[in-house]
Amino acid sequence: MSINWMQEVLKRKDELIRDTQEFLQIPSVLDEESATEEAPLGKGINDALQFLLKRGEKEGLIAKNVNGLAGHLEMGQGEQLIGILCHVDVVPPGDGWTSDPFSADIRDGKIYARGAIDDKGPTMAAFYAMKIIKELGLPLNKRVRMIIGTDEESDWRCVDHYFQHEEMPTMGFAPDADFPIIYAEKGIVDFDLKQEVSHSHVEAEVKLQSLKAGRRYNMVPDWAETVLQADNGLLVDIEQRFLHFLASNHLKGKAVVGEGVTTLQLEGISAHAMEPDQGKNAGLLLANFLTGISLDSQAQLFVHFLDRYFNGDSRGKKLGIAYSDEITGDVTVNVGILSYNAESGGKIGINLRYPVTCDIEETKKILEQLAQQSGFILESFSDSKPHHVDRNHMLVQTLQRVYEEQTGERAELLSIGGGTYARSLEAGVAFGPLFPGRPDVAHQKDEYIIIDDLLKATAIYAQAIYELAK
Ligand SMILES: [Zn+2]
Repeated sequence: MSINWMQEVLKRKDELIRDTQEFLQIPSVLDEESATEEAPLGKGINDALQFLLKRGEKEGLIAKNVNGLAGHLEMGQGEQLIGILCHVDVVPPGDGWTSDPFSADIRDGKIYARGAIDDKGPTMAAFYAMKIIKELGLPLNKRVRMIIGTDEESDWRCVDHYFQHEEMPTMGFAPDADFPIIYAEKGIVDFDLKQEVSHSHVEAEVKLQSLKAGRRYNMVPDWAETVLQADNGLLVDIEQRFLHFLASNHLKGKAVVGEGVTTLQLEGISAHAMEPDQGKNAGLLLANFLTGISLDSQAQLFVHFLDRYFNGDSRGKKLGIAYSDEITGDVTVNVGILSYNAESGGKIGINLRYPVTCDIEETKKILEQLAQQSGFILESFSDSKPHHVDRNHMLVQTLQRVYEEQTGERAELLSIGGGTYARSLEAGVAFGPLFPGRPDVAHQKDEYIIIDDLLKATAIYAQAIYELAK
């Protein structure tokens, strides 16, 4: 049977756009204050979940609400289960929008709204894909289930809860990232290296009172600040050297000299931790400057440790944990948060991303040893495992073929350093909705989805679901 999927989508175009707009008009931002037992993540998110479940029931899909934290819509029959993992929660809109972020205004062939591309637009595309298969009365040998998450933008309490109580799909995809197909994602670890406070403190001319940089593990810090104590003459000298350091490294910053104390501020360039080399780490640069000053022994140890093991190396070579594989590339190391104060010593917050074949236990051991030798303790080690579906898996091959048929473009397999929603499925890949070359407007002001892309994604999802479940 040959079906013209795009034609089927176009027959339903007006209805699809209207439903998408109505769905986007629900302000489904996490709101703990309006949380109740039925709506544990607040009213907006619950309204969006209810909207979708009701809409599905109207189409004859089996709807289930899983304690207000997740839900699903199911059709078809058979042993195996195909999952489509979506989410209805959105990040707060923020300021500076041209039209109200929950008006779902249409301008120049785009729907503008918070959630348009992440992830309510694509969720509606996947919903219409199921609706089309249902309306065409196509026979299915597997069950198809849209799994509806509600907490993707925060703590993933939705999928945690859902998969504790409900069946894990045989295979599936998440329309919550990029086309063509993301089939491999690195493992992601956050951890701290905490300095052990020494009691045999050797004082020096300059006391490092504090050092601070960054707020998030997964970002390169774009600011850093330190407060130094010394006599005024010495501080003037430090200020001069700092300004020279800034100029010779083409950096911005300033020195504010007070009475017996000076504050040095340095600006870096922010970047996502999946590629720290795209940024300039303000914290490491400032630590590098501080290695040239005769600080008290505890502070010396801290800035020299940072400089020796992290400065200018995002691949873990200096740490002795460098590793690379063909599927996902290099280990990356990002120093995202720095803090130091004279009383409690220093702390380094690190985000480490590792390839799918990397032995993370071994890596952890090396880090622990190094920390111990250097007067640090490794703590708060949290590990989100890498995720990978073999390129010969029926899921990957089918989605590749469908994508190529629908777009006429090659369906290149992508591997990324970031984590997508697909990692909560056992055999799952990220599949759209952002087409190659399109700017990524997720989480930005004036977020939009191009209506033609919404339609194209719907056709791709419809054929994909049918081919996987037939
Ligand atoms: Zn998303």
